[in-house]
Amino acid sequence: MPKHLVDQASATPRIAIVGAGISGIAAAVALRRAGFEDFTLYEKGTDYGGTWRDNTYPGLVCDVPSRYYQFTFAMNPDWTRLYSTGAEIKAYLCRVARERDLLRRTRFGVEVVGAEYTGAGWRVTLSTGEVEHCDFVLCATGFLRDPHVPDIPGLDSFTGTVMHSARWDHDVELTGKHVGVIGTGSTGTQLVSALAGQVPRVVLFQRTPQWILPTVNREYSAAAKAVYRRVPALGRLAYGGNRAAFALFSRGLVRPGPVRRLVQWVVARNLRTVRDPELRRRLTPDYQAMCKRLVVSDRFYAAVQRADVDLVTAGIDRVLPDGVRTTDGVEHRLDILVLATGFDSHAYMRPMAITGLGGRTLDQVWVHGPRAFEGMMLPDFPNLFMLIGPHSPVANHPLTAVAEAQSHRIVHWLRRWRAGEFAAVAPTPAATDRYNAGLRAAAPGTVWTTGCRSWYLGADGLPELWPGSPGAYEKLIRRTPAPTDYLLTHAMSRH
Ligand code: NAP
Repeated sequence: MPKHLVDQASATPRIAIVGAGISGIAAAVALRRAGFEDFTLYEKGTDYGGTWRDNTYPGLVCDVPSRYYQFTFAMNPDWTRLYSTGAEIKAYLCRVARERDLLRRTRFGVEVVGAEYTGAGWRVTLSTGEVEHCDFVLCATGFLRDPHVPDIPGLDSFTGTVMHSARWDHDVELTGKHVGVIGTGSTGTQLVSALAGQVPRVVLFQRTPQWILPTVNREYSAAAKAVYRRVPALGRLAYGGNRAAFALFSRGLVRPGPVRRLVQWVVARNLRTVRDPELRRRLTPDYQAMCKRLVVSDRFYAAVQRADVDLVTAGIDRVLPDGVRTTDGVEHRLDILVLATGFDSHAYMRPMAITGLGGRTLDQVWVHGPRAFEGMMLPDFPNLFMLIGPHSPVANHPLTAVAEAQSHRIVHWLRRWRAGEFAAVAPTPAATDRYNAGLRAAAPGTVWTTGCRSWYLGADGLPELWPGSPGAYEKLIRRTPAPTDYLLTHAMSRH
């Protein structure tokens, strides 16, 4: 065996994981289970949880059932409800991280600001000014991370409190306040549902109406939790049942047919529970259900029908010092303005400055939008992996499952590195182009391209989601990678 391979085979790779949300935790746990201990989890925040740490607004509930929105290696029998609150999910993620002993490998309050491939590994620059060297970089930076603050004239002039939903300030007193909410996505609808009746007036500024899937968020009784605790197989059964249901649902997302028609029928019927025809008209979307992320709620329509909730459908003209003026000239007096306006979901690991082979930067490579090979890797960026990278958000499928599958793939490559098979791996440009051409070809069949504006769509108007079933993506990512899709290189010296 050549000397460099012998050296490498006796070595353990040094790994930087960027981000300690769902996918960072999944990756770190997978590394530990596979015996890769030399990793550091960098987290710019002060705790685990990613988006579940950042989002604490009133009414936050995950719209994927708790028994499915969890790691298969850490099934929780004690979920309190069918759909968990954000706080419960965050507590779960923190508990998993602590139980798996990730704390001693985590650096909180440290942002990775840059990563440069040196030819013999990655030079990682931290916000503290430190520079670390490692063999692999895993970007687990999420995509619902950077709040989108809309460019609305006069926003800075508001003298009350303005806050983005993902930066909720719990010191702000709500009692007696008139609260405006801009945005009718999953967040805005949950906020309005929670605030209605708690404050004297809620004003919802709706640019585009949403289809709402009704549901009931029932509580698990103490007896049910005890049974789940005593019979772990029941938890696995519930996970499997949800998985099957979501697989069926995803058929409606990726191709026309009966599921799409059924969902359309259910949401249209739900809309009829709004009694006032004029209000119902203003809440009626002009696009197909599921084109935007479907909102799941048992409370929203009841909330908007309250006398103390105003649905405003005129466009926003400007923000005034004491409220919002709409294009019909009406001034809505407000004390608090909440921006439930979503996220810059196409940033992925940016603004981290990433430089690959030949000085190529991520910004250059992604000038036409984020692209990757199988959602995880980039040509010319060896030993760099993304978790939940471009096109790997799998619609309403829980990211816990996607992150677990992708971690499995990462461990595959790490094992081969440790066995001395290569020093650096990256997909070929041809494989990456072919993969992305396949995604583009599949896009027109999906519901996301049927005519609506949504954060799912990239600048080219095509969805940045996986256009197939969740099972197909997992199968793709869990299979043994095809050798012809990758360039493996062997370095003669390691840094
Ligand atoms: P979103 O779905 O992107 O919705 C943003 C809302 O803000 C939209 O209604 C949008 O209107 C509106 N908006 C943006 N800019 C505006 C402007 N300049 N003027 C007026 N309105 C403006 O964001 P989100 O609700 O935060 O949800 C993002 C994703 O997070 C969800 O799709 C979901 O994946 C996840 N999420 C999940 C849950 C859950 O599990 N229940 C809860 C919250 C979030 P248009 O529709 O006209 O663009």
